[in-house]
Amino acid sequence: MLFLVVFCVCGLLMQGEAQDRAAMWRNNDQSGRCQYTFTVPSPSETTCPQTTGPEVEGLKARLSLLEVLVARLSGGTPQVSPSKAQNDLQDSLNRAMGERNLLRAEKERLERELEGLQRRVEEMRRETERLRNKPCPAQTPAAPPRPPLQDSSLRRPTGGSSSLSHLMARPNRQGDSSSLRDSAWQYGASDFQELKAEVTEVPAPGGTEDAAGCGDLVSVADPVTHRKADNIAGKYGVWMQDPEAVSPYGPNMVWRIDTVGSEVRQLFGYEDMEQLSRGFPSKVLLLPDSVEGTGATMFRGSLYYQRRRSRTLIRYDLSSESIAARRELPHAGYHGQYPYSWGGYTDVDLAVDESGLWAIYSTSKARGAIVIAQLDPHNLEVRKTWETNIRKNSVANAFIICGKLYTVASYSSPDTTVNYMYDTATSQGRAVAIPFKNKYRYNSMIDYNPVQKKLMAWDNFHIVSYNVRLGRTQAK
Ligand code: CA
Repeated sequence: MLFLVVFCVCGLLMQGEAQDRAAMWRNNDQSGRCQYTFTVPSPSETTCPQTTGPEVEGLKARLSLLEVLVARLSGGTPQVSPSKAQNDLQDSLNRAMGERNLLRAEKERLERELEGLQRRVEEMRRETERLRNKPCPAQTPAAPPRPPLQDSSLRRPTGGSSSLSHLMARPNRQGDSSSLRDSAWQYGASDFQELKAEVTEVPAPGGTEDAAGCGDLVSVADPVTHRKADNIAGKYGVWMQDPEAVSPYGPNMVWRIDTVGSEVRQLFGYEDMEQLSRGFPSKVLLLPDSVEGTGATMFRGSLYYQRRRSRTLIRYDLSSESIAARRELPHAGYHGQYPYSWGGYTDVDLAVDESGLWAIYSTSKARGAIVIAQLDPHNLEVRKTWETNIRKNSVANAFIICGKLYTVASYSSPDTTVNYMYDTATSQGRAVAIPFKNKYRYNSMIDYNPVQKKLMAWDNFHIVSYNVRLGRTQAK
C-alpha cells in the first residue's frame, strides 16, 4: 500500500516537472503513518479549490516581516497620514509667503522713503545755491509777511518772531541738531532771517501738577519694556489702554495693532499688562476697514483710527463691534503726504489727553506744518483747529498733554529730546529740551495716556512705556 502511494506521488511529481510551482509536504498522522500533501497549479484560477495552505501562510509571514521593516525604516513611529503632512507643509508655505510679502512691502516703503530723502536733499541743495547767489538785503524792514489763510477755521498763533524761532532749530532725521537749517521750507517771501531759540524749559522750584492733575511736561523717565513682537508684522505698531474704559472692557484691558502690511485690520485685546507681556490675546477683532499709520487711539469704549488711503476718520465701537461714526478730517494730507520723519504713512495721528480727543496732521494750506484739531469724540466733527509752525516731517512723533502738543526730535537717536511745545490755550509755541530715549532706535508711535500718566510707545518691535513728570515750568 505504501509503495503504491509513493509510486503515485513520484508519478505526479514527474508529471509536474512540466508545470511550475508544483509542491509536496509530508506529515505524520495520528496512527503513525505518513501523510503526503501536494499541490499543482491549475491552468485556470477559477478552478483552484482553496487559497490557504502552508505556502500562503509563509507568504503572510514574509509580508508581515516586510511591513515591520518598512515601519522601522520610516522612523519606527506611528504612521502620519499623507493628508496631515501635506497640510503642515502647506501651512509652512503660507507662513513663508506671508513673511515674504511683508518684507516686500517694507522694502518698497523704504525705497519710497529713500526717494523722498533724495528729493529733499536735492531741494535743500538748490535752495542753498539760490541763497548763496542772492545778495543780502541791506536792511530787513519787517518780518516776512505770511500768506493769507484760506480756511477761516484755521488760525495761526500770534507768537511773532519767537514763534518762528524753531524753524531754525529743527532736528535732522538722525538726531537732534539744534542748529540745522532747512531753507527749503519758509513762509511766503524769500527773506531769510537767522532766528534762534531763546526759550528753554526748566522746572520751577517745588513745581507740581495743578488740582486737575495737569501741568507742563517736566521730565520723561527711561523706557520700560513690556513685550517684544514675535514677527516682522510687529516691527511697528500701536498699543493703547482706554483712559475712560466702557463695559464690557475694563480699564486694565490693553489693545494692540501690528501695522506692518497693507491690510491692517486685526485688533488684539489683552486682559491686562501681564497678559500682554506673557502671551496670547483674549480677544481678536477684525476691523471693517484697514488701518493706516500708527495714529490710532482708544477713548470711551471706541477705537479711533484713520482709514487706509483716505483722510477718513473712523470711530469703531468696541461693545457692538461696529462703526459708530465716520467722517473726513477736512483738508488733511494722507498716505505719505505729511508723515512724521520716519515715514510709515503717519499723516494723521490721533491723541487723547485730559480734555478729550485730538488729531495731529497737516494740510496743503499749512504747507506741511502741524495742524491740531480738537474733535468731538461722538461724531468726529472738528470743534476747533490750531496751526503751528512745526514742520510735521521734521519731527519723529507728537503727543498732547493737558492741551499742549509736544514733539519728539528723533525716532532713531537713542538720546534725543522732546524739542517743542505748543499750547492750544494760548496759541503759542516754544522750544524745549526734555531728554527722551529711543532705546531700540526705531520709535514708530508715541502717545500719552492721561490716566496712567505715561507715554506709550512702539520702538522697533518693542512695546514700551515711559513715566512722565508734570509740573509748573518757567521760561528763562
Ligand atoms: Ca502720537
